[in-house]
Amino acid sequence: MTLIDAGAPSHRPDWRRILSRAGAAAAVALAGLVQAGSYPQADVALGSRALVAAVDSRLGGVCARELAGAIAGGAGREWLFTRLGDFAAALDVPTIADRQWTRSLELADRRGDAPASLQLTQALGRSALALGDYERAFTLAQRITTLGQRLDDASAQGQAQNILGIIERRRGHLDLAAAHQQRARELFESVGNRAGAARALTDLGTVLRDRGEVAGALEAHLDALAMNPDRIDHVYRNLGLLYRDVDDATSSRNYFERALQAARERGAPPSAYATVIGSYASLLNELGEYPGAQAAAAEALAIDSALDDLPHQGLEHLELGRALLGLGQPQAAVGHFEQALQLGRRVHQREIVARALLHLGEAALAERDLPRARGLIESAIGELANTRLRPQLADAYALRQQLASDEGKAREALDYANKAMHLREELSGIRTSRQLAVLEARHERSDAEHRVALLAKDNELQAARIERQALVRDIVLLALVGLLLAFAALVWRHRGVRRLNRELAARNLEIDQQRSALDRANATLRAQASDLLRAATTDALTQVANRRHLLDCLGQRVADALAHTRPLALMLIDFDHFKRINDQHGHLFGDEVLVTGVATLREALGADHVVGRYGGEEFVAIVSDDSEQEVMVMAERLRARVEASLARLAPSLSGLATISIGVAFLADLGPRADAAMLLDAADRAVYLAKNEGRNCVRRFRP
Ligand code: GH3
Ligand code: MG
Ligand code: MG
Repeated sequence: MTLIDAGAPSHRPDWRRILSRAGAAAAVALAGLVQAGSYPQADVALGSRALVAAVDSRLGGVCARELAGAIAGGAGREWLFTRLGDFAAALDVPTIADRQWTRSLELADRRGDAPASLQLTQALGRSALALGDYERAFTLAQRITTLGQRLDDASAQGQAQNILGIIERRRGHLDLAAAHQQRARELFESVGNRAGAARALTDLGTVLRDRGEVAGALEAHLDALAMNPDRIDHVYRNLGLLYRDVDDATSSRNYFERALQAARERGAPPSAYATVIGSYASLLNELGEYPGAQAAAAEALAIDSALDDLPHQGLEHLELGRALLGLGQPQAAVGHFEQALQLGRRVHQREIVARALLHLGEAALAERDLPRARGLIESAIGELANTRLRPQLADAYALRQQLASDEGKAREALDYANKAMHLREELSGIRTSRQLAVLEARHERSDAEHRVALLAKDNELQAARIERQALVRDIVLLALVGLLLAFAALVWRHRGVRRLNRELAARNLEIDQQRSALDRANATLRAQASDLLRAATTDALTQVANRRHLLDCLGQRVADALAHTRPLALMLIDFDHFKRINDQHGHLFGDEVLVTGVATLREALGADHVVGRYGGEEFVAIVSDDSEQEVMVMAERLRARVEASLARLAPSLSGLATISIGVAFLADLGPRADAAMLLDAADRAVYLAKNEGRNCVRRFRP
């Protein structure tokens, strides 16, 4: 039994735990080195004992004590005793732990250190329980309560209630035991001590099981399990016992196997392992699996012996005896029952005493020792009637009935037969209702689990739904934001487009204006160009081709006529007596005469023929494609028309304002003729006309 209690208040240095663990590891190693027995856990327990005894004799001896005392006085000795006790407890050696803690407690009490006293008293309470010293455990529990109240330590008070509950249960006071465990649980829970509360609940479950309240017991054990207790193997073992009591061998075996596995996995101390394997033996006995039961009980007994655990040794002797009886070895069985009886009486554990007496009676009856059987069975009935161990009481009645029959006491036999029958009927009723209760509890549990699972599923679905809704909402929001953005972009773009259109329109207008301005400028330019051209090629006074343009045209026409052998004629027209007209009527009038005469010439010649001013009052007409006769007729017509128009202009000048025309034909000048030759020929003809009286037409003759 671990005396280092996870639930106990710890205001001592934590290295106590470290020391204990190191010691436990050393014990295991020691056991592995020195032992090779058939029960490894018992070997570990023996190794631990050897180690603790060695340490105890060295450090707990007079020399060490004096040394500690010399160094640190009473406090030094107290410290040493406490550490030795912790070490022994950690290694499951309660006798030594108990002795050292007791010494330490005396010193702490003398010092008046209440917290130290409380802690040591708590430790001693546990060791007293382990040693089956219930009287002392009771006194210690009371002291723990007093100190716990004074120091306002609810966990300590809870432990006291837990110890009292265990004692009362073992004394067969189940209601009182249940009340103590309830109180213990409340006290532990009030300070959030889950391990302590789980332990109280486990012990309460055991009490409830003894009372036949299987459903409540099951609930308590399962709740303890849910609290994640520090001794899970213990809880599994209790569940195994519970199912054993309601004849559910499969579940019972299952839980015992789990308990053994859990004990191995958590590296449980030998005491915890022995508790599990010993209880397992009881199940195997009930199932008639005697070889298995014998092995399990023997292993548990070996461990408990190594641990000096008297109450458990008693219980293991009982199971070992039952197994041997089942295997047909009554002598050996009786030996174990006797030992169980002695141990039960020594620790005042009524359950062990009653069961030992009953089994001894059973063995005596089997050996036909009727008087002895009668004494034993009567005693067993007396003990059992005071406890609630009614299955054993029914067995006792049955044995008593068998004894009466063997003694030939028919009436007595009938009485006990009736008692046994009634009790069994009642028990079977109890068993039936227990089984129903278990089934109900199981059903409720699986129903609750199912509901929890459904709830979890529902929660999952709900969560998924919420998640999906959130997702849809997010998507819709996103879509809305997207649409808004797109709309904003459209509006912005639209405004941009409108602005651009306006700018474009303005720009187009500007361009149109510039274009029309350009057109106007071009028109002006063209007009100016044409004016310039006109000015460059036209004689300002008479508006006919000027000399240069005239000569250009003549050159082209001569070349063209020569190239195509087409007729070309040139008329040189000279105004007669012009000097005299100027002199007589003024230069301006002379100009007017020129303008009128030339206008008449142009009108008479038509648009096909070129007229130009050759110089002064001399003009040239170029006539293409006409025959010589047509040219001569045309020249004569020109002369006559000019004479008439000038006569109309100034009748006073009649006979004076006329023109002389010299005509030259290109054809007359040969193939090598040119413009100059043509002009020269026409000039010769004019000279001829002047000589022959003016106002006439003359043709050049080569
Ligand atoms: P003819 O009958 O022999 O041709 O005698 P003419 O006086 O016409 O010839 P001449 O060559 O002696 O004189 C020509 C005159 O024409 C001289 C000149 O002053 C005049 N004249 C030349 N160009 C112009 C002009 O543009 N306007 C005016 N009013 N007179 C001009
Ligand atoms: Mg002249
Ligand atoms: Mg003249």
